[in-house]
Amino acid sequence: MSPDPAAPALLAAIASRAGAADHREGDVAADVAALHQAGWLAACLPHAAGGAGWGTEPGGTLAALDALRGLGRSNLSVARLFEGHMNAVKLVALYAAEELREKSFAAVRDGVLFGVWGADDPARPLALRDEGDALILEGAKRFASGLGIVRHAVVTAGDRLLLVPTDDDTRADPAGWTMAGMRATRSGRYDFTGLALPPNALLGEASDYYREPFFEGGVWRYCAAHLGGAEALHDAVCETLVGLGRTGDPHQQDRIAVSAMALETARLWLLRAASEVEAEGADPRKAALSLFAREVTERSCREVIAAAERALGMAAHVEGSVIERMRRDLALFLCQAAPDAKRARAVGTLLDTGTRIEEL
Ligand SMILES: Cc1cc2nc3c(=O)[nH]c(=O)nc-3n(C[C@H](O)[C@H](O)[C@H](O)COP(=O)(O)OP(=O)(O)OC[C@H]3O[C@@H](n4cnc5c(N)ncnc54)[C@H](O)[C@@H]3O)c2cc1C
Repeated sequence: MSPDPAAPALLAAIASRAGAADHREGDVAADVAALHQAGWLAACLPHAAGGAGWGTEPGGTLAALDALRGLGRSNLSVARLFEGHMNAVKLVALYAAEELREKSFAAVRDGVLFGVWGADDPARPLALRDEGDALILEGAKRFASGLGIVRHAVVTAGDRLLLVPTDDDTRADPAGWTMAGMRATRSGRYDFTGLALPPNALLGEASDYYREPFFEGGVWRYCAAHLGGAEALHDAVCETLVGLGRTGDPHQQDRIAVSAMALETARLWLLRAASEVEAEGADPRKAALSLFAREVTERSCREVIAAAERALGMAAHVEGSVIERMRRDLALFLCQAAPDAKRARAVGTLLDTGTRIEEL
């Protein structure tokens, strides 16, 4: 049975802890435990493994979208971690050999949080040496979200994908994450040098990670979290304006309208992208739908942030307020990932196929 992706009590509890977690040592362990208790970690598994197919089966797509949106509204850092978990479970479902898949799915049912760590340390990118009976890792990942929380990560090493344990806290270094936003993601560097893995840690074949529509096609997931964050920001602005008795002002009404329309535009785009990309046997070109939806979501979120700043003036910048945290977290999360390259890829699909977006 699928857990309720609206889950008002769960999401309210996570939102209530978000302010306290907004620093580099911020602890979201209670939130991850609550997601496990509510069945959300296991909901990402396919039905046959005891899940609800959130992100792994077409029937679970809309619930996954709602869950990511709801978490984004509550705490964008927790949404970031949950999205990584959903992505990792999907990659294991798609590419892991049976034994590794069963073991990983059992760990998920036990409440272990998974992640995807793709970004390489530029000085020491992760590399793999095949010694026949063991795979030896060399190098590090950066911007790795969930240090000390994520216990298994899907990582890239050249053109190969691996599932690796990430539970050795002496290898983790959060010092490089000096970002103004998304502080509670506990992101940073993780050094895998010298780690030996069995050959069955490999997932799929070379370059499988980049297979579409699963790779770029999957960006709708983090966009759903972005949308949730923007919705929370919009709601907080409206509530503040009501409290100030300023909603009769036509300038403020214009900002509310711009922001509300931006949110609905992104929601409709994401609904289409997610449904079509995740449909059974979807054409690889459907990935472009997600890429355009990403572009629309980013533009929409930036409109919501700008409207909030203009609507509230200095009040949007008061340290420790929900509005200030939300706009700071959202502005950073929107950097994910390589937006110019994604737009170029989406445009490339249109030009190569001579189609309109409608026909994708
Ligand atoms: C909150 C958060 C959590 C994250 N968690 C993870 C995680 O768990 N795992 C993981 O692997 N990664 C994670 N990342 C990293 C993410 O996937 C990207 O690697 C990262 O956002 C890229 O950093 P950047 O914005 O500095 O990139 P840049 O690539 O430097 O992009 C900055 C700008 O420059 C443009 N640009 C890029 N290359 C060029 C070029 N050659 N010439 C001109 N312009 C260029 C880009 O399009 C963009 O507009 C996370 C990022 C964030 C924000």
